[in-house]
Amino acid sequence: MKAELIAVGTEMLLGQITNTNGAFLARQLSDLGIDSLNQQVVGDNQARLDAAIALAESRADLIFVLGGLGPTPDDLSKQTLAAHLGRALTEDAPAMAKLQAYAAQQHHPMTANNRLQAMYPAGAKVLPNAVGLAVGALLTVGSKTYVLLPGPPREFEPMVLDALVPALLAQLGRGQVMVSRVLRFFGIGESQLVDELKDLIEAQTNPTLATYIKPYEVTLRLTAKAATPAEANALLDPLEANVQQRLGAYFYGYGDDNSLAKAVVAALASRRLQVTAAESLTAGSFQAALAAVPGVSEWFKGGFVTYANATKASFLGLDLGKVNAAGAVSEYTASQMAQGARAKAGADVAISFTGVAGPGPNEGVAAGTVWIGLATREGVSASLYHFPGNRQAVRGRAVKAGLFALLR
Ligand code: ATP
Ligand code: MG
Repeated sequence: MKAELIAVGTEMLLGQITNTNGAFLARQLSDLGIDSLNQQVVGDNQARLDAAIALAESRADLIFVLGGLGPTPDDLSKQTLAAHLGRALTEDAPAMAKLQAYAAQQHHPMTANNRLQAMYPAGAKVLPNAVGLAVGALLTVGSKTYVLLPGPPREFEPMVLDALVPALLAQLGRGQVMVSRVLRFFGIGESQLVDELKDLIEAQTNPTLATYIKPYEVTLRLTAKAATPAEANALLDPLEANVQQRLGAYFYGYGDDNSLAKAVVAALASRRLQVTAAESLTAGSFQAALAAVPGVSEWFKGGFVTYANATKASFLGLDLGKVNAAGAVSEYTASQMAQGARAKAGADVAISFTGVAGPGPNEGVAAGTVWIGLATREGVSASLYHFPGNRQAVRGRAVKAGLFALLR
């Protein structure tokens, strides 16, 4: 089902008003899972509106004409569509009664132009106007459906929501829903991720795939359209399984409002583990990231900022001579920091950060070189990273890498 919107009004062509009705309707259609592939704007001119309808018929099944249902001579939409389809205009009795009551109240005679507002192309379903006087209409002819809607947004929007959407759902024989699943990845760049999924991205129809970049992370949104959420999920499951098979090593969680820190806190809670940290390079940013997550206090009681070697030794109980000999940025120091922090804090898990943030090398070690240590009940290990970017990027990536390491 492809939709095309035709907004009618010379005011729009002159830039005097913006086609907000088009935007409003496009959002509704998108929510219904109906694809809108083209929109047109035409002036208040019968020949050009007729041509616009013909063009829309050539490429869409659901054609919306927005505006021009009023009583003035420039309101031509209803007559143009009826003539285009070779249909007569007929009167809607409730709308005519409303018009007559309105005319009586205003002490105005009922003119032919006024009556037009209560008329619709023969065979159409009337879309009542709860706010104004001009009725809308929905007419199916063969494989095409035509919809007439009024111009004033205060009439347009309630008609769309209260009359059109239910009529479209009935027409489709079902509601369509869109279900999105957001997958979050760390440790892989967007271009590499796209490359790994190239064939899936190129072949996408339903579900679709889209990537978004977050600071040092990539998210992938999978979206499926179906009659029910369960059917949409059934479309998403095999696609996600395929993605996970390729990129599972980088995956850490779901959802737009998720984060590595949230995922870590959830993991600590589910494993009932206390965490601590000893931070040289990051000087507390890791602990600050953890503390940003509500509910972390049960799993994080405190930690250490140990910037100088002497502080590493005195706070964490390290042998200063050995640290100096190994170097601040070394596997030995990272491991010792993690182990020392775990013991001093009485935590289940401890992580440590030591590295060169830059700019430029330090003690002969290149900027971006980072050791992250991890001490658990089972033992201690340290991993070496080489992060690109400036000082801020190196420190930011280190924090996220530490969070990611805790999830593994
Ligand atoms: P009326 O009975 O008020 O004449 P109508 O159905 O004939 O209603 P138009 O004459 O096309 O509608 O437009 C009436 C007013 O509605 C416009 O002056 C404009 O303020 C607003 N309008 C029309 N079309 C749009 C649109 N696509 N987006 C936003 N506003 C619109
Ligand atoms: Mg008008």
